Amino acid sequence: MNGPAGAHEPRRLAAAEHGLCRSDVDADALHLVEQLRSAGYQGLLVGGCVRDLLLGFTPKDFDVATDATPEEVKRLFRRSRMVGRRFRITHVRYGRNIIEVSTFRKAEAEAQDERRHADSGLILRDNVWGTLEEDAFRRDFTINALYYDPETEEIVDYVGGLDDLENRRLRFIGHADVRLREDPVRILRAIRFVAKLGFALDAAIEAAIPETAEHLAAIPPARLFDEVCKLFLCGSAEAAWEFLSATPLRRALFPCTPPEDLLVRLAMRNTDNRIAVEKPVTPGFLLAVILWQDYLARYADFQADHKPAEARSSAAAATLGFQHEIIAIPRRFSQFIRDVWSLQDRLERRQPRSIPRVYEHVRFRAAYDFLALRADAGEALQEAVDWWTRFQECDRGEQEDMLEALRGQKPAGEGGTRRRRRRRRTRPKQDQADGNG
Ligand code: ATP
Ligand code: MG
Repeated sequence: MNGPAGAHEPRRLAAAEHGLCRSDVDADALHLVEQLRSAGYQGLLVGGCVRDLLLGFTPKDFDVATDATPEEVKRLFRRSRMVGRRFRITHVRYGRNIIEVSTFRKAEAEAQDERRHADSGLILRDNVWGTLEEDAFRRDFTINALYYDPETEEIVDYVGGLDDLENRRLRFIGHADVRLREDPVRILRAIRFVAKLGFALDAAIEAAIPETAEHLAAIPPARLFDEVCKLFLCGSAEAAWEFLSATPLRRALFPCTPPEDLLVRLAMRNTDNRIAVEKPVTPGFLLAVILWQDYLARYADFQADHKPAEARSSAAAATLGFQHEIIAIPRRFSQFIRDVWSLQDRLERRQPRSIPRVYEHVRFRAAYDFLALRADAGEALQEAVDWWTRFQECDRGEQEDMLEALRGQKPAGEGGTRRRRRRRRTRPKQDQADGNG
């Protein structure tokens, strides 16, 4: 199976031998394959969906492989668009469902060889396309290179993936160090599959980790963001984080995160639990947790010669700016992170004057969850968490009572008379807003 494509007959399993039913396959994906077939092309399901169905999991998405070029796919399906810079693939849309269609292609190395050997130096783009067999060998792991043919209901295996599925083993097609040098991001995919499937990592992959960790520095930060999100949102983030932390990969990706950070571990567990019951999750929350210690350290430094609000904002900018060089965090998430961080202080202090604004903040709920997580990790915040929990459960009148009680509690020195006067001034406005709300 290590030999080049073109030298092997695939193993074929008939329907009765593999237990994958056509009815398990997404109806849109089946329709798409049928359309390809009736236009004279090949079409097979491949990758994670075949792997997951054979293992009895529900696939996250359905990928289709075909000998039609992206342009041909585009022409065939009106609701489709070509995506990807490194690899052009086509997204075909069925309502909210998107099926990813990729054209059979050769391994990068072989395609490059052909380019190098082309006399004119002119590269025909078609050179990268290949046969079904070549397509199997260019894929990353053996368990990801299984094809399901919905017409014959056969599984087609060129690379020994069925054996590896049975033995619960994650192995690269070809040599691990070569495949990781070609694309170091594959190590993050490896961790995702090992964490999610509970498979054993091939020793050759393990041995290549230190060198691969160094090579991650050459990966565009935007791609790393995508891969890291997939890793954290795969439903087994805690296991994945544990793995990262036990290798130089954690340091390569998050140099400022301490190796043992209970808060991170709890957040990963929490995310896994939410995914298990199909509650929404956001990578912003996890990144806020992962970078929290670094933010606090920088905040402490800035506080020496800045006002608190300035120190907070500068610390957030410094932490996010540093991390951005490695993993590009899109603006909507970095803003989320800043908000969650800056709300922590206000949630802790519970100044009656600022509570309505904090409570109405679009990130209140995430910030409250963050506070609760910090309490779970051992910070002395349980009282504040309980207060906010109660506050959310109360009706307006009871909330007002809670605020009044807080006002009574506040030591006179803390706010001073200036604040009290200011509050009286803003009060009519507040009442008006309440009335309209
Ligand atoms: P998931 O369950 O996350 O969708 P997947 O294996 O389907 O897992 P995708 O990112 O959807 O992962 O990729 C589809 C398929 O494309 C993979 O199964 C694999 O065969 C191939 N592939 C993806 N990324 C790479 C890569 N970096 N190198 C080689 N092959 C890859
Ligand atoms: Mg997939």
